[in-house]
Amino acid sequence: MNNSEILYMIVPCYNEEEVLDETARQLKEKYISLIDRKMISDQSRIVFVNDGSKDKTWEIISRLHEADPEFFSGINLAHNSGHQNAVLAGLMTVKDICDMAITMDADLQDDINTIDAMVEKYYEGNQVVYGVRSARDTDTFFKKFTAEGFYKFMKVMGADVVYNHADFRLMSKRVLCELAGFKEVNLFLRGMVPLIGFQSCSVYYERHERFAGESKYPLKKMLSFAVNGITSFSTKPLKLITFLGIMMCVVSIITFIWAFVVKLFGRSEIGWSSMMCSIWLIGGLQLFCLGIIGEYVGKIYSEVKQRPRYIVDKFINKQQ
Ligand code: UDP
Ligand code: MG
Repeated sequence: MNNSEILYMIVPCYNEEEVLDETARQLKEKYISLIDRKMISDQSRIVFVNDGSKDKTWEIISRLHEADPEFFSGINLAHNSGHQNAVLAGLMTVKDICDMAITMDADLQDDINTIDAMVEKYYEGNQVVYGVRSARDTDTFFKKFTAEGFYKFMKVMGADVVYNHADFRLMSKRVLCELAGFKEVNLFLRGMVPLIGFQSCSVYYERHERFAGESKYPLKKMLSFAVNGITSFSTKPLKLITFLGIMMCVVSIITFIWAFVVKLFGRSEIGWSSMMCSIWLIGGLQLFCLGIIGEYVGKIYSEVKQRPRYIVDKFINKQQ
């Protein structure tokens, strides 16, 4: 193969001093082999994004860059902005100087050997290549259960995500430029990239255990990530409220009939029928009204995002 396009690796790092040297070593080895096989240009770089680490992460990145500037680059964020923002910061910084970019965690959980397949898929014409986990054997039962539940729940809630795909993916320059048009503040890249479209495919890999250090995604962060994903991508929860309101109104009609029948046969206490009817009816009406308000809130929410309304893939036009 002789397609020497420029590949930038974006690696977000938050307190990763224990793993960085090993990650850098393995990535450099991979780059050398890719460059030797002429799969990528020797202008390709590995960019570590330091997301406001409190340990020696930035010192290590600076040292790597000084020792090996033709392989390693670094971006230092002003403060801890979170994984998604760190990834986006890296991508947006390099989008004009690369042909393709791969995002990968620093902890070596994603299989570096998948990069070859990703690059090959890129040359086959794919603009996005998703890294998908084929097995979760190394995850604890709890992590596996919560993570898989997360993908299923996201689907039910109407957010289009690739099952078992985290943020290990290749994107072409084209996709990066389109991604720049997404102005939202609450980032959820896994939901945004499929929205962009274009030809895409998946490659499968086995996820390893963290090389060293500990996860920066405790349950609390994971839950807020899931809630953010759902509320940033779907107004289904608002619609559920409307639906619930309508259901309550239906139940209230049934309660009316029931209360009336019970009263007719003189078996009810004084005041019971009116209480029963009003509780259900008022509850139903309240939820229904909330749902209507929710519909409008949903509209405002999608308007303030100012997402691009369409993305043109090709423009075929013969000019004089
Ligand atoms: N990370 C980051 N900023 C944060 C938290 C995490 O840049 O605020 C990075 C972290 O260094 C790692 C990646 O995001 O490279 C994924 O984090 P982690 O491995 O802790 O998550 P897990 O794999 O356990 O879900
Ligand atoms: Mg990890």
